[in-house]
Amino acid sequence: MQLKLTKPSVVQTLLRQHNLRPSKGLGQNFLINEHYLAQIVAAAELSPADLVIEIGPGLGTLTQALASQAGRVISIEKDQRLAPVLAISLAPHKQVQLVWQDALTVDYQQLVGEATQPKVVANLPYYITTPLILRLLQAEVPWRCLVFLVQAEVADRMQASPSNKDYGLLSVACQYKHEVEIVTRVPASAFYPAPTVASTVVKLQAPASGRPRELAVEEPWFWQVVRAAFGQRRKTLANSLSAGLPLTKEQIQLGLVAQGVEPGARGEDLTVDELVGVANELGCRR
Ligand code: SAM
Repeated sequence: MQLKLTKPSVVQTLLRQHNLRPSKGLGQNFLINEHYLAQIVAAAELSPADLVIEIGPGLGTLTQALASQAGRVISIEKDQRLAPVLAISLAPHKQVQLVWQDALTVDYQQLVGEATQPKVVANLPYYITTPLILRLLQAEVPWRCLVFLVQAEVADRMQASPSNKDYGLLSVACQYKHEVEIVTRVPASAFYPAPTVASTVVKLQAPASGRPRELAVEEPWFWQVVRAAFGQRRKTLANSLSAGLPLTKEQIQLGLVAQGVEPGARGEDLTVDELVGVANELGCRR
């Protein structure tokens, strides 16, 4: 029989029985709301053909729901204290593989192996949301979609447009190959213990139709250029790029002019397409 982990009394009893306290430092805010759990799983549009990577299974609430629809689930958890709880909550779900590692250092390419178009679904630990999303998106894995439960302000940064105060490296990373869709807002009361901020379910997925954008010739170089472009927000783009890249200021200015970009512009003024153009142009001038 499956443990009903969306029931607060079940969660509290389970924690007490195992002498566990949710760790603030590890961002342990467990989802205890059936409605929002169902919305996260529905957003991932799972089928038995899917491999899902989950970050931070916690007590196994979301993991159980994913395992009931996907063919395989690989869940990465850092907190080994949760092992006895997960042994109980995931006992009926043999297609779940637990990986006891830090999600910030796992090799995602190796983890997904030959799987085509794997998916990510996760209620992310809040203290590392941004570096984790960046790592997943820069892992060069052909994700079919990524569904995240994140702080509302992170969701705003993920979907921000150029010249908006929230637009930066995270926005570019999310919008480079994916469309960003807000699935639903989630109140703090949907978690135990309740966090201090509201959350949002966000879905990233490859555009279904239309012309795909021109991609960077060399992705590691593209990310280096984007990091440099947003590295020093008060500086002009030309100055930020010359501070962060192994190129002379003259090479950078010529490259920007060749792309029709004002050297006096700032990184946050450039669209994702313009950043790709600049990275490709500067890549040829190295
Ligand atoms: N998925 C569960 C749920 O929805 O109730 C728990 C989500 S809780 C917000 C985040 C989970 O991520 C916790 O279980 C925490 O221990 C785990 N975690 C925190 N840091 C981690 C890391 N660096 N690598 C892997 N898991 C981590």
